[in-house]
This record gives sequence, C-alpha cells and structure tokens, in this order.
Amino acid sequence: MPPNTIKTDVLIIGASAAGLMCAIEAGKRGRKVMVLDHANKAGKKILMSGGGRCNFTNTDISASNYISHNPHFCKSGLSRYTQWDFIALVNEYQIPWHERDLGKLFCDDSAKDILHMLLAECKKAQVDIRLDCDIKNIAHKNNTVFEIESSQGTFQTTSLVIASGGLSIPKMCASPLGYKVAEQFGHHIWPTTAGLVPFTLQPHDKERLAELSGIAVECCVSNERIQFNENMLFTHRGLSGPAILQISSYWHAGEAISINLLPALDLVDFIKKRQALQPNIKLKTVLADVLPKRLIPAVLGQETADKPLQELSQVRMEAVAKQLQHWQIKPNGTEGYRTAEVTLGGVDCNELSSKTMESGKVAGLYFIGEVVDVTGWLGGYNFQWAWSSGWCAGQVV
Ligand SMILES: Cc1cc2nc3c(=O)[nH]c(=O)nc-3n(C[C@H](O)[C@H](O)[C@H](O)COP(=O)(O)OP(=O)(O)OC[C@H]3O[C@@H](n4cnc5c(N)ncnc54)[C@H](O)[C@@H]3O)c2cc1C
Repeated sequence: MPPNTIKTDVLIIGASAAGLMCAIEAGKRGRKVMVLDHANKAGKKILMSGGGRCNFTNTDISASNYISHNPHFCKSGLSRYTQWDFIALVNEYQIPWHERDLGKLFCDDSAKDILHMLLAECKKAQVDIRLDCDIKNIAHKNNTVFEIESSQGTFQTTSLVIASGGLSIPKMCASPLGYKVAEQFGHHIWPTTAGLVPFTLQPHDKERLAELSGIAVECCVSNERIQFNENMLFTHRGLSGPAILQISSYWHAGEAISINLLPALDLVDFIKKRQALQPNIKLKTVLADVLPKRLIPAVLGQETADKPLQELSQVRMEAVAKQLQHWQIKPNGTEGYRTAEVTLGGVDCNELSSKTMESGKVAGLYFIGEVVDVTGWLGGYNFQWAWSSGWCAGQVV
C-alpha cells in the first residue's frame, strides 16, 4: 500500500446529483464516505439547471419518460425512491417550489436551494467531499480493493461508485471518465450522442428562417416514433425550445421532423368560415389571429401569404393546412455536447443490477446517474433518475 493511502468504506467519483444522493444515503447508514470531483465546486449542473431554478422532478414519472436500450431497467429504482420522496426532502428544508406545465417542479427562488440541501445532508452524514481532485488511475487489487490514485493522494475502498455523468457541457466539467472506467472493467457501452439539444438548420432554411429569431410557438413536433406538444423557439442558430429538445433525443441524423404549428385547429374549416365572412381579406391577415405574423410568409411563401381568401380553392386550402400543420424540416444536425442537456447511451443496463446499480461483472463497483444508459425527457426526469439511482446504490454500498 502506498504511504499515506486513505482508506474509506465508500468512494464516489462525481459530486453532483447522483453522487451526492448516494453519499447521503450511505453516510446515514454509518459508512465512511468520500466523494471526489475534479471540479472546483460541487453540483455545477444543478446550479445551471432549469434556467437557474432547477426543475428537480416531475409529478408524473414512469419508465415511458426515459430512453434506454433496456426500457424496463429504470422501473425498480424509480419506484423505490420516487418523486414524492424527493419532494418530501425538499419540503423538510422548506424550499419554496411551484409546478409548471406538464407536472414540472421548479424552485421558486434558486437552484442553489437544492444544492445547499444536498450539501447540508452530506454534512449531517459526515460525508467527506474533495474538490479539484483529478483521478489518475483506478486499479482493482486482488479483485477486492479498488485503489484510486488522484492528485490528492491514493484512496482505497471496497465500494467504488461512478457518478461522473455524461459528456454534455464540457465547460461544466463533463468528462468521459465514467465510460472509461466501465470499459476498463469489461462493461459494454452503448454509443453516446447529445440529447435534449437544439437543432441547427440546412443553409437554405437557416437563411429563410433567420428573421424569425426570438419567436416562440405552441406546437406539436413529431417523427415516426413519437410526438411532443410543447413550445418551440426559433433562434439565430436554428430551432430550440422544449418541443425541439424533446424530439432531438429521438432524432436520427438525416431525418425530417414534422411540425404542426396549429395543433388544436381544423385549419381548412377555419379558413372557409373566414372566407365566407371576409372574401377580400388576405390569408396572412386571417392567420395572424392564430400565428405570429412573421412566421406566416416564412412558412407559406410571400405569394401564398398575400392571397385574398376568395382566391383559395379547397385544394389550395388543404395545401396551406399541410404546410402549416405538417411542416417538414430536415435539421442539418444538433448543436452537440456544447449545449446538450444530456447524453444518450452509456453504460449498458443489462450488466447492472436494477435494484442496487452494482456491476454484474465486478463486485463492489456501481454506476449511477447519467453515465448509465438511462436518459430522461425534459421536465425533471433526469434529476429524478439521478436521485433514484443514487439512493438505490446508497442503501447497499
Ligand atoms: C443546462 C442544463 C440544464 C439542465 N436542467 C435540468 C433540469 O432542470 N431538470 C433535470 O431533470 N435535468 C436537467 N439537466 C440534466 C441534469 O443536469 C443531469 O441529468 C444530471 O445532473 C445528471 O446527474 P449526475 O450526477 O449523473 O451527473 P452530473 O450532474 O453531470 O455530475 C457529474 C459530476 O462528476 C464530475 N466529474 C466528471 N468527470 C470527472 C472526472 N474525470 N474526475 C472527477 N470528477 C468528474 C463532474 O465535475 C460533476 O460534478 C440539465 C442539464 C444541463 C446541461
């Protein structure tokens, strides 16, 4: 054993959502717990989440809100530590929160409240958190003890938990360490891609839609596999907003997405009724009652937008409805990990215990949170997976 080696019952790599939850639970059981992180601050992603207000969970959580090569894997963890358990903890700390659309729960004041709560719980459970700590090597001695060499010395443990997250936002200290450790110990990794990420546009669409930057619309975005009814936002780089982020996690490169800009309207009927009342009025004027003005010529073309209603045949009306309600856009790509909220893919669930998150290959090795091939929708689902998987491992490490 190298001199000055520090022994600990549990060593967790990653001091953020999943790692801190696991540390709290293991510490509460009387285990000696250390958490190492190369960042200079714990929970950086918690602080930047939900626009600074942390969408910490959702009232409506089920396995169908998660993407994984094993869609059943997350069920056990999510049912053992539920959104109600986390809400109870938040209430215990009297953190003010509110519900937004689709069951999303946010802090009233700041995401800092959630991080402070986790750190206070860690303190109570006597968890030792070491920041600015670079991991240099991990070895498994005699197949029993993990030896972790770091910039702050050597650590030994029999329970090693990998909570180092995915690849999104490298500026926030994301790194591939978790995948490398999994590979080192013989685990299969599903290829990773950026999820919950804005789309970039093909040059002709980018030019055509540039003037729409800043416009938001309630819409339904779909592909052959799924659809999302939420807001979409035009930006100077491309398309963003909740509906776009959601579908990006289900998007295959080269594929078109379909956008229904008026999901709640029978558009042909709407135009016909207005035609009977005001035959001379221009199509764009009528549509401006239900859509942002600038959007109408950008999607329909100026000529169609300027047509008086009396010049629109049934066939033409149907074509207009198709353009606005089945608008096909083929993204050029995504903005990638630079702005993605999550990473799809990761450590293969089939090689982990769904109850404890322990590796089926190496006893004493655990993977929790985003590094695992479980990716939630936008709406608090990713944090709930981090809390649930962290809690599960915390019961046994
Ligand atoms: C901008 C943004 C907003 C988001 N908003 C929400 C939201 O409102 N609701 C929601 O549910 N989800 C949200 N997410 C997703 C959510 O933040 C993550 O899914 C969640 O933080 C994953 O938790 P984790 O603990 O597994 O990983 P992370 O939170 O990514 O933490 C991993 C930790 O490991 C450390 N680490 C990484 N590599 C190393 C290394 N080599 N050595 C040592 N330490 C290392 C990192 O510094 C970090 O502290 C958001 C993500 C982003 C990027």
